[in-house]
Amino acid sequence: MILYGFEGVGTIAEVIDFHVHPIPKIISREELVKEVGRARVDKAVLLALDIDEYYLDGEYSSMSFLQECVQLNSLNCLKCLEDARKILKTCYTSNEYVGDLVRSNPERFIGVGSVNPSKNMSYVKEKLKEIEKLGLIGIKLIPTLQFFNPLREKNKLEAIFEFCEREGKFIIFHTGCDPSIWEEPSFSENANPSLLEYYVKKFKNVQVVLAHMGSYSLKYPGIWFDEALQLGRKYSNVWFDISAVPYILMEKKYVEKIDRDIGWSKVLFGSDYPVAGGYGLASLIELVKTKSLLSEKNLESVLGLNALKLLGL
Ligand SMILES: [Zn+2]
Repeated sequence: MILYGFEGVGTIAEVIDFHVHPIPKIISREELVKEVGRARVDKAVLLALDIDEYYLDGEYSSMSFLQECVQLNSLNCLKCLEDARKILKTCYTSNEYVGDLVRSNPERFIGVGSVNPSKNMSYVKEKLKEIEKLGLIGIKLIPTLQFFNPLREKNKLEAIFEFCEREGKFIIFHTGCDPSIWEEPSFSENANPSLLEYYVKKFKNVQVVLAHMGSYSLKYPGIWFDEALQLGRKYSNVWFDISAVPYILMEKKYVEKIDRDIGWSKVLFGSDYPVAGGYGLASLIELVKTKSLLSEKNLESVLGLNALKLLGL
């Protein structure tokens, strides 16, 4: 595997993967360390996922889930519910675990915590304290798997943003669809980037990364790309990662819009490893390096330099 020395991109200094899921039920810590090393990723941002594995076991939540399925004319609602339950039970990744991974490999790993805004305020405050104590430097929010609407949880989201403002932490916000039933846009509409305008406007000092650039969707790739760009055009604290949507760097229609509307200084490389796309980390980076339509300078920014700036390194 040659990462340095590709024709035309031989000088790329640093690769930072801004979106990695160290989900213990999917990948062991040994395998994660090995893959990051194999891909010659200099730094990997590890995301906790504070999702409630029992959420869909509750009577009320499972009934409303099933009702929404029925509205979609989905043929097998119970199977959808089972799949969604399985995802929640599989993907939980605690703040402590991420903190522990960072402690064991501080040169390579950067830790981002997570807090579930569907829980009550005292839970949210406890989690924020935990994130602070563990020294995690950002917070991941995912309205699909955490089942919240950003504008209906104003008290808790404002508490999270105020915390980030005070402590100098950033937010990574999932945008776009998600696997399984969340491939249905109606299940994922809470992850439309336009719902975040209130917060990025009010909390100008909090840097917010729109994960997947509003675009992830198998059925409708680029589903809320324009909404994501629009936020980026208006607010300088908005960033993007291209995890699970590497085609944004390879297809003319996206590249031209980014060139024209926001430029590349806020776009970050991310992989979503090991959960999306069926790529190994090394092969994904190779793909981006060989197939992107970006100039060498812009590619270098996306692969690492922009992240260094956001991380203050
Ligand atoms: Zn992800």
